[in-house]
Amino acid sequence: MQHDSQNDLDKSFRSSAIGYWANQGVTDQEWNDHKWQLKNRISSLPQLEEHLNLSEDERNGVILSGTKLAMSITPHFFNLIDRDDPDCPIRRQVIPRVEETITSPYELSDPCGEDSNMPVPGLVHRYPDRVLFLVTDRCASYCRYCTRSRVVSGAGDQALETNYEAAFQYLEEHTEIRDVLLSGGDPLLFSDSKLEQILSRLRSIKHIEFLRIGSRIPIFLPQRITPELCRMLQKYHPLFVSVHVNHPRELTSEVKEGLECLANHGIPLGNQSVLLRGVNDNVETMKALTHKLLMCRVRPYYLYQLDLIQGSSHLQVPVAKGLEIIEGLRGHTTGYSIPQYVIDAPGGGGKVPINPDYIIQRNSERVVIRNFEGKTFEYPEPAVQPDPLLDY
Ligand SMILES: *Cc1c(COP(=O)(O)O)cnc(C)c1O
Repeated sequence: MQHDSQNDLDKSFRSSAIGYWANQGVTDQEWNDHKWQLKNRISSLPQLEEHLNLSEDERNGVILSGTKLAMSITPHFFNLIDRDDPDCPIRRQVIPRVEETITSPYELSDPCGEDSNMPVPGLVHRYPDRVLFLVTDRCASYCRYCTRSRVVSGAGDQALETNYEAAFQYLEEHTEIRDVLLSGGDPLLFSDSKLEQILSRLRSIKHIEFLRIGSRIPIFLPQRITPELCRMLQKYHPLFVSVHVNHPRELTSEVKEGLECLANHGIPLGNQSVLLRGVNDNVETMKALTHKLLMCRVRPYYLYQLDLIQGSSHLQVPVAKGLEIIEGLRGHTTGYSIPQYVIDAPGGGGKVPINPDYIIQRNSERVVIRNFEGKTFEYPEPAVQPDPLLDY
């Protein structure tokens, strides 16, 4: 029953400021200040235990996280945790568990093979015409399944060591690069002026057509999405922002306002979700999530199969479940709300689309297909007639 009412609440845009923290003597002004939010992040065991009853597995997870991937949770995001629910989908994303120390044989510290595709420290050039530029190793909060936990948060022994000048030089020399994706870490953690330095430098390179920023700040720290930031960003169009939302409860009224501010400044928004056990591994949750995203003017972009990061098997979902979710959306709801399900191929193959099979049979004469209701249809291939101009 408790779950049902929580589910219904998750479908509306609630304020994250209601309740708990308001009773701690925190003023609205402090709460709405992103610097206050960053300064008051929950990042130690005593702080966490002050607010939440931990299980033994969580307690040990928090202790061990200090040498792997730091724990850090903004009060805003922490406030979305249902304290009475040990399986809360928000809790599972940010509170370490002891299972993070268990490494399965197929798990890797660099699951997508990024380090071997870095021509310059911090710049991943895997695809022909675009690059991933890792501009920082810090985030507002740390996702426990982070694909870049080897270099992110400063807790592990590998450092990111981005070489900005070498990266800009590489981009200047490589005229085939027309798309630069800023990520990290979280680029929106930078001040407006620092971020603007990077964007204006990139815009000075003539062959770079398209800029995007991958960020979870609109979700972890919506207070950071100020009109000033949005006005700065809109000077560098075309610029897209990809956010990261996994569960409908993350879309609060504050988050919606931030996303609308970005959209109002002409920034197209996409969402990248990760399929996570106990968080969003069912059709109902994913449908509610994608509907809420559309209401925030965010187009679901990718649904990622979990990268094989060390210590993540407790969050892994079978591919069959991901396919079932996509099948449960296609045809049943708005096409705009359906993300592309992908596996980022282990070892560095890049993103591979994974789709339910709608083709039952195909030969040179016809293709037999099924629709979302399971009905089958035949589509005849064009009869082959010699055409002097066209040659298939
Ligand atoms: C995901 C990714 C990109 C961007 O891929 P799109 O499919 O264009 O969104 C670029 N470079 C790397 C290394 C990536 O992992």
